[in-house]
Amino acid sequence: MTAAPSPSATAAARRDLGRLVGSERVITEPAALFGYSYDSTTVLRGTPPLAVVQPAETRQVAAVLRYANTHDLPVIPRGSGTGLSGGCVPLAHELVLDLSRINRLRAVETTRRRAIAEPGVLTGDLLTAVTPAGLFYPPDPSSLKVSSLGGNVAENAGGPRGLKYGVTQDYVQALEVVLLDGEVLSLRREEDGDVLALFIGSEGTLGVVTLVEVRLIPTPPARRALLAVFPELAAATRTVSIILREGITPALIELMDDIAIHCVEAYRGLGLPLDVEAILLIETDGDERAADRDAARVRDLCMAAGAREVRLAATADEAEALWTARRSITGALGRVRPDKIGEDICVPRPAIPTMARRVKEIGREYDVPVVLFGHAGDGNLHPNVLFSSLDADERQRGEAAADAIIAAATELGGVISGEHGVGIMKRKFMPLNVDPATMALMHTFKRAVDPKGLLNPGKLLA
Ligand SMILES: Cc1cc2nc3c(=O)[nH]c(=O)nc-3n(C[C@H](O)[C@H](O)[C@H](O)COP(=O)(O)OP(=O)(O)OC[C@H]3O[C@@H](n4cnc5c(N)ncnc54)[C@H](O)[C@@H]3O)c2cc1C
Repeated sequence: MTAAPSPSATAAARRDLGRLVGSERVITEPAALFGYSYDSTTVLRGTPPLAVVQPAETRQVAAVLRYANTHDLPVIPRGSGTGLSGGCVPLAHELVLDLSRINRLRAVETTRRRAIAEPGVLTGDLLTAVTPAGLFYPPDPSSLKVSSLGGNVAENAGGPRGLKYGVTQDYVQALEVVLLDGEVLSLRREEDGDVLALFIGSEGTLGVVTLVEVRLIPTPPARRALLAVFPELAAATRTVSIILREGITPALIELMDDIAIHCVEAYRGLGLPLDVEAILLIETDGDERAADRDAARVRDLCMAAGAREVRLAATADEAEALWTARRSITGALGRVRPDKIGEDICVPRPAIPTMARRVKEIGREYDVPVVLFGHAGDGNLHPNVLFSSLDADERQRGEAAADAIIAAATELGGVISGEHGVGIMKRKFMPLNVDPATMALMHTFKRAVDPKGLLNPGKLLA
């Protein structure tokens, strides 16, 4: 861990940074800095940064990085701070480079089906902006109303629609990236595909994204939303593979267990069933006939596999209520316990039922509530271990349960993170998924662009 700079070095850095971006764009008040000492990973608390700089354009990002490089000042890029692995959390009073003010949607090119956006544009705002033109940007992290595109690129964010439409990396066509020495790279998929790919999912450790070009697709003409109610969790998890084996690819298949249902229902009052172990939220899409046909087949398959009932949303508002339910889970969990470790494991689809069973057994074994939800369609599950940090014993049991979940996922051939990234939270588990030779190669890449290890230290690799 890097030592905190001395008061005189701090004052000098703040003054110099003010010259580079304007003093009004340098945050130094202690209360405001405290707000940058954490992200959405509720169990993780970092340190207040030395300062937060909010550049307005690429040139200023380059100037700040050049300054940091020259003065050996560690820097942490930050988008909206919705990360769930601690990727933008300072650990030793580093400088935070807040990209949220570089937030113009520069262009929506309908004929080319492309959008060009600055990193601070919110994911949901991009989707809203392209919709009137009949275009669609599918990556939909459940945080889409607040997460930034720069953060999505850095984490290679996914979301429910990943099942059919893929994740952020499947849409990025070009990136502008600033390296620590201030060099500005313009990378296009056609010419620099492999280099471009290195930066997607690099969690702010290789460069700072200052412009993103994404491809768009035509909006599917029709969508059908279904709520399948399962008295037993095991039947719900088995159904996921049954649907996909039939050759149907819904736009999404989301799982919510009983704890998730109860929390969301208490919070939102959406009329979810409270006497069952699980629900699946499923969306089919395509042209009208395909969406209807798939919805009917999905309904039949769910009923045959043990669903008590399958409700088809009759209106767009009813469908939206289902997605609201899904997106509300994380926020609603505070009703059970104030703290949580949110896992992001991804297991091969046939292993989903076993994984779900193991998660519940682990909860009982360690005597902590473990809620299970996630993008079941692609095996990406979010078991969240709930506890109160005020109860040291419960916290310890919670941490042990979270480790046991990672171990179980690995035994089943899964990975430690499907979409939330490694950040600080999953670093200790990297050797479970990445062999030493590959890890060494990753360090070589890192050293090539950041020999002093100043860009987002302590995250992912360091
Ligand atoms: C309720 C909730 C639901 C969520 N659901 C999903 C989901 O369904 N799918 C999913 O994938 N994630 C999900 N997330 C996690 C999170 O929203 C995503 O990881 C998102 O991509 C983070 O974006 P951000 O702008 O908040 O980035 P931050 O949290 O600010 O930063 C995340 C990482 O990106 C780096 N970074 C940020 N901006 C840049 C930049 N311009 N250049 C270089 N590096 C940068 C940071 O250094 C850090 O390592 C969810 C989070 C919450 C709170």
